[in-house]
Amino acid sequence: MGTQTLKPFKCLMCGHEYEETVDPDKDEERSCPQCRSNSIRHLKAKKEKVN
Ligand SMILES: [Zn+2]
Repeated sequence: MGTQTLKPFKCLMCGHEYEETVDPDKDEERSCPQCRSNSIRHLKAKKEKVN
């Protein structure tokens, strides 16, 4: 039983940004809802620690 969370993704092909619920227990193939490309990048949270 995983906890589904809404995570931001960005399509590298068309630049479309969207949010999708992901189940951390599953590593699913994703595709852009706009152009069907599977070049999807997971966007990180805004706060990033850079040393
Ligand atoms: Zn796209």
